[in-house]
Amino acid sequence: MTGVRPPAFAGAVLSLVAVLLASAPTAAGVRVALTPGSPRVGDVSLVVVQGIPDGATVEGAVAGRALVFFPYAGGAAALAGVDFETRPGRYRWKIAVVNGADPPVIRTGRLTVRARRFPVERLTLPEGMVELDAETTRRADAEEARLKTLYATVTGERLWRGRFTAPVASPKPPSGFGARRIINGRARSPHGGLDYAADRGTPVVAANAGRVVLVGDFFFPGRLVVIDHGLGVHTAYFHLDGVTVAEQDLVDQGQPIGEVGSTGRATGPHLHFSASIGSARIDPAALLRLSARD
Ligand SMILES: [Zn+2]
Repeated sequence: MTGVRPPAFAGAVLSLVAVLLASAPTAAGVRVALTPGSPRVGDVSLVVVQGIPDGATVEGAVAGRALVFFPYAGGAAALAGVDFETRPGRYRWKIAVVNGADPPVIRTGRLTVRARRFPVERLTLPEGMVELDAETTRRADAEEARLKTLYATVTGERLWRGRFTAPVASPKPPSGFGARRIINGRARSPHGGLDYAADRGTPVVAANAGRVVLVGDFFFPGRLVVIDHGLGVHTAYFHLDGVTVAEQDLVDQGQPIGEVGSTGRATGPHLHFSASIGSARIDPAALLRLSARD
């Protein structure tokens, strides 16, 4: 080689070009997929973001609800829950890939939330379980508020993995999610869980790994367990006969947490199983159908 060297500025220009070549296709390569892309009310969409530059973070929202992303399949993913009382229609989603001082890469789109026909259930219950005195009303309201606060709590560590599984072995398919309930002839709030018929004493198991954040004996839910699966995902198990876990216990998927009973407002032994993502109350069946691979 001769001793001729390019001027220093040429080297700087060359390395700038190299940086542009390295980063431009990466930023342009950010891809977002929502599955399902047109969920029904009560469904869960898996939001997968691929082509994220090294060191970048992902944030976003669907229909105004913030998403909580976790590393997934070489990119990032989040669960978007569609509350079962959402009005069907078109909603915006927005994803931002934030990489240091660079301008964020923004992707936006719309998703259609489809309507769903819910059953109407007519129930007859003892008046004492329907027409509450003032003190019992206060108690039931306080318990409901406590559950709402718990479900809205987003803990930062993802504890769930892979598929969510049914919490109990039942002789028939679960039913009743979203049912418009008419109790003793009067319309009441819709039913936010899935009811599994099972005999008293049938083991109830955790639908996925998580932390037990509430064990209680509430007026309507009866004996109950709430599990925090991390990143805003909670499942709840009502009307239990007995509970075999304590608050703060870490549980594995399939680990027994109690037995089926009929405590609280129940017409007979069954498991009431509910699920939420952030404050969105979702169909537990949608969580069980979720196609997360890891
Ligand atoms: Zn129920």
